[in-house]
Amino acid sequence: MIRLTNIQLPLDHDDAALTNAILSRLQISADQLQSFEVHRRGYDARKKSSIVLIYTLDVQTTQDEALLEKFAGDQLVKATPDMAYSFVAQAPEALAERPVIIGFGPCGLLAGLVLAQMGYRPIILERGKEVRERTKDTFGFWRKKVLNTESNVQFGEGGAGTFSDGKLYSQIKDPKHYGRKVLSEFVAAGAPDEIMFVSKPHIGTFRLVSMVEKMRASIIELGGEIRFSARVDDLHIEDGQVTGLTLAGGEQIKSRHIGLAVGHSARDTFQMLYDKQVYMEAKPFSVGFRIEHPQSLIDEARFGDNAGNEILGAADYKLVHHCKNGRSVYSFCMCPGGTVVAATSEENRVVTNGMSQYSRNERNANSAVVVGIDPSDYPGHPLAGVDFQRQLESLAFELGGSNYDAPAQKVGDFLKGVSSEQLGSVESSFKPGIRLTDLSAALPDFCIEALREAIPAFNRKIRGFALEDAILTGIETRTSSPVNIKRGDDLQSLNTRGLYPAGEGAGYAGGIMSAAIDGIRIAEAMALSINNSQ
Ligand code: FAD
Repeated sequence: MIRLTNIQLPLDHDDAALTNAILSRLQISADQLQSFEVHRRGYDARKKSSIVLIYTLDVQTTQDEALLEKFAGDQLVKATPDMAYSFVAQAPEALAERPVIIGFGPCGLLAGLVLAQMGYRPIILERGKEVRERTKDTFGFWRKKVLNTESNVQFGEGGAGTFSDGKLYSQIKDPKHYGRKVLSEFVAAGAPDEIMFVSKPHIGTFRLVSMVEKMRASIIELGGEIRFSARVDDLHIEDGQVTGLTLAGGEQIKSRHIGLAVGHSARDTFQMLYDKQVYMEAKPFSVGFRIEHPQSLIDEARFGDNAGNEILGAADYKLVHHCKNGRSVYSFCMCPGGTVVAATSEENRVVTNGMSQYSRNERNANSAVVVGIDPSDYPGHPLAGVDFQRQLESLAFELGGSNYDAPAQKVGDFLKGVSSEQLGSVESSFKPGIRLTDLSAALPDFCIEALREAIPAFNRKIRGFALEDAILTGIETRTSSPVNIKRGDDLQSLNTRGLYPAGEGAGYAGGIMSAAIDGIRIAEAMALSINNSQ
């Protein structure tokens, strides 16, 4: 098969155009073309009046070898690489000890699934509830302000990304095509087929919920075990080797191979690991606000007259600005046609995030606008970033009225430095509710200064970004983990053998896809180590 890259066609091209483009690019006749499939479809919308679709195609011809020779110097015509996933190991007949995975987010899910597929019958421990129960708790918090600290947006089956936009792209290097394995497992569990080829796939919340259930069933069918409301409160470490763990109820489980996929909000677990002297360092992350605009404004700014085109869908954006004070401000976790959600896992704190459904047809677009900070802003201790997050989240709780409403302000008022008194043309989507205030009190001065410089700069890229009535809601603190639990080339903790820190919480991922890929990586490392030690 031949992979053709960078085939550009107009947005409104007809069905025959792809075939014609292949024939012309390869200079072959119609009878020499046997079949083709779209490997990837993206778009270039830099010129709104002439948006082009950009395809990568896998083509089967009667002349593959000759054509590859003919185009040998052409980087855009290559043999299609083998992207099939191959298991690195198979569990021994008599498995001495089952591996354990802590956490059932995207990282733990893929680690557990791949271990189960290789025959290792993993035990997966998740502090939160199964996804349907968890959904009730999460929506209960949004509607009635009743927070369950063990079952919420951050904790429970499916992990932090379950109530999300379900964006599935990542910028990490993936030479072994693990991302393909993740996507094909998601499709097998009910995700739309298009995620295999669109350049920015997303799933949305409702589909994610049923997919997670199906993947759980597959793991169990393969001999794995998943236990909910099973919080790991202690690790057993002997002579630098992990030997087991203790659950919140006191039950002990022995294992010398433990994957740690606890996400960025497991602050009590970070503390426990720190107390056990598992090596970790403070890590940079970002803080800021969620911004909401009418989705139609973003569509118009990005796509002009092509706004509403079915192939393009609801428009997204990605923005970055380097400020005079040396800070960078960027947009993060942009959710087209979505809602802003309350994402705290701790009492008396307010945290924002964003989600959407597959259709992305809510009225507003939202994204986090965040300022990069690093350990020099919270010096002294590997967990000082957690303290910093907590301070900001508690402050946001107070500014919101100490009842889980979030503090908010119109963009125009924020830029002028005056408190907002009433909303304008943009309605807030945040549940449970907002309290209008002056957000300049919610973040350190250097962050406010950076945001006041960046929003007008973003307005030059997306006209309307600094819309007077657009809404800022605070506060965004859980952008990534504040700690890095260091691991070596064998993916084991630097000072605790048999412990495999992974995913977002340990500092090795920044989203659903990268966390899932990291899950596959630790599954492989754990399997190989088990086989070597038996
Ligand atoms: P997590 O998903 O956080 O999973 C960790 C799991 O471990 C949790 O279920 C937790 O309950 C469990 N756990 C923690 N401590 C313990 C313990 N001691 N014992 C047992 N279990 C424990 N990313 C994207 O790529 N696209 C998006 O569109 C997107 N939208 C998001 C929207 C929201 C509202 C949120 C909150 C996040 C979003 N993200 C998105 C980020 C994404 O969800 C995370 O990057 C990803 O889930 C990280 O995966 P993980 O498996 O490493 O950790």
